[in-house]
Amino acid sequence: MRLIILGPPGAGKGTQAARIAERLSIPAISTGDIFRANIKDGTELGRRVKAILDAGGYVPDEVTNEIVEDRLTWPDAEGGFLLDGFPRTAGQVDALDAMLARHDHALDAVLELTVDEDVVVQRLLNRAQTDGRSDDTEEVIRERQAIYRRETAPLADHYKQADLLVQVDGMGGVDEVTDRVMAALPAR
Ligand code: AMP
Repeated sequence: MRLIILGPPGAGKGTQAARIAERLSIPAISTGDIFRANIKDGTELGRRVKAILDAGGYVPDEVTNEIVEDRLTWPDAEGGFLLDGFPRTAGQVDALDAMLARHDHALDAVLELTVDEDVVVQRLLNRAQTDGRSDDTEEVIRERQAIYRRETAPLADHYKQADLLVQVDGMGGVDEVTDRVMAALPAR
C-alpha cells in the first residue's frame, strides 16, 4: 500500500503514521525526521537545513525531493510506504507523481486527518507550557495552522480530483482514530 498522510500541526499525524505503518507492515517515512536525524548527526545535509528548520521554513523542493526519491528506493519501501510530511508543496506533488511513474507505481490513497482547529491550538498551547516552550505563543501556533491551510488545502484538492483523498476525523482517542483510519482505507 502506497500512502500519504496529511494533517495540520498537532493533529497527531506522526503518532498515527507510526501506528498505521506498523499495522500495514510498511515503513512510515517522515521527511521532518530525516532532516532532524541529519542535523543531530552533523551531516552535510544537516548543516544545510538546520537554519531552515529552526526558522520553521520549508527546505527547498530540490533538496527534499532528492531525499525522498533516494529513500523510496530502499528495499523496505519496495512493497509500499506511508509518507508523513511529504509532499508539502505543489512542486513536491509533481515530483512524487513523476518518481512513482518512473517506477511504474501509483498511490493507493491520501489520508487527511481533519481536526477542530481551536481544540488543536489549545492542545499545542498546553504542550508548549508543559515543555517550557514559551516562544510557542498562540499567535505562532495559529500562524502554523494558517500556513497548513494555505499550503496544504490545494494538495488535498489535487488528490481529491485524482479520487485518492480519504478524509478521516482525527478527533478523539489515539486508538479510536487509528481504527477509523484502518476502516476508511481502500481494500487491497
Ligand atoms: P515535520 O516534522 O513534518 O513538522 O517537519 C519539520 C520541519 O522539517 C519543517 O518545519 C520543515 O522545515 C522541514 N520539512 C519537513 N518536510 C518537509 C517538506 N516536505 N518540504 C520542506 N520542508 C520540510
